[in-house]
Amino acid sequence: MNTLFRENIEKMQGYTPGFQPKDPSAIKLNTNENPYPPSPKVFEAIARLDGQALRKYPPVLWDGFRQIAAKVHSVEPEMVVCGNGADELLSILVRCCCDKDRLLAYPVPTYSLYPILARIQDCPVIELPWGGDYRLPPELGKTKAALTFLCNPNAPTGTFVPVEEVKKLAGEISGVLAIDEAYVDFAEDNCLRLVREFENVVVLRSMSKGYSLAGLRFGYAIAGRRIAQAMIKVKDSYNVNAVTQAAATAALEDQAYFLANVRKIIAQRTQLITGLRELGFKAGPSQTNFILAQIDRPKAEEIYQKLVERAIFVRYFGYKALEDKLRISVGAPQENEALLSALQDIIKKEH
Ligand SMILES: *Cc1c(COP(=O)(O)O)cnc(C)c1O
Repeated sequence: MNTLFRENIEKMQGYTPGFQPKDPSAIKLNTNENPYPPSPKVFEAIARLDGQALRKYPPVLWDGFRQIAAKVHSVEPEMVVCGNGADELLSILVRCCCDKDRLLAYPVPTYSLYPILARIQDCPVIELPWGGDYRLPPELGKTKAALTFLCNPNAPTGTFVPVEEVKKLAGEISGVLAIDEAYVDFAEDNCLRLVREFENVVVLRSMSKGYSLAGLRFGYAIAGRRIAQAMIKVKDSYNVNAVTQAAATAALEDQAYFLANVRKIIAQRTQLITGLRELGFKAGPSQTNFILAQIDRPKAEEIYQKLVERAIFVRYFGYKALEDKLRISVGAPQENEALLSALQDIIKKEH
């Protein structure tokens, strides 16, 4: 044997995260973080933890969080499965469902983590391009995949597939349909009600975006018992630490704070789309906390570079169907204004 690792691991590339600048004064609009701090209740909950909470293992089935989530979402506590970020839940689902003969399907472009998880698991993928206006690919319900990921609203397009259409898809699919709702806090609707209707549907939520807790690492799934129990078999024994469980519970409980922040971001999103359009971008609509903005000249990559020179970071992907686009997170008002004035400067110099 001349390799240390499985062949698929030897051959694959890891996930490429958005750049994390060290300069604290940099304007960071590249990873869809929330510009506002988390709820003050989060800090109170962390301060209340005592030595016992850290000395002992954390609740293995996230009891406190499950109670609050059940109340907030009108589900049973047993339908909630928590993870070290929604990313862990995606990984758990791939490990639950997929292998060499059990495929993963998803529309593209979408979240760039999905193919990485498939490669780690060594399962083939079926990537279907979105239909016109980012409608569901007509073949998505016919793939016979063991697992189908639907990022809704989708990243990096910011588009949303109406729940009625997702419902049709859920009825066609015989495998598991995992709806990644990482951005749903900023959308006009959500697919949670499908979980009650279909035992093969699981909805994933993240606290990284809407709840300003990307650094904490917490996400949760809501599904019927069959999927929830499979996910619990596969998860790490104590997959969410005690500090995170306490903080996430406090954040979810403070719905008033959360909703006020979401409202501010949605209002900023409207303004940023208007500003981008005035500069000649095709931008939005968006049902997320970011905007996909397209421009022919100057080239998107060139704009990206010139923004970096000004310590403003947005996301440039550069791959198929995204070469002429930038993904811009909605920041605080001053950040969005700084971005727009830098863009104006860059575009003016071009002419
Ligand atoms: C941010 C994100 C997630 C998960 O985020 P966590 O930080 O792991 O909770 C999942 N899917 C998409 C599309 C995301 O953008």
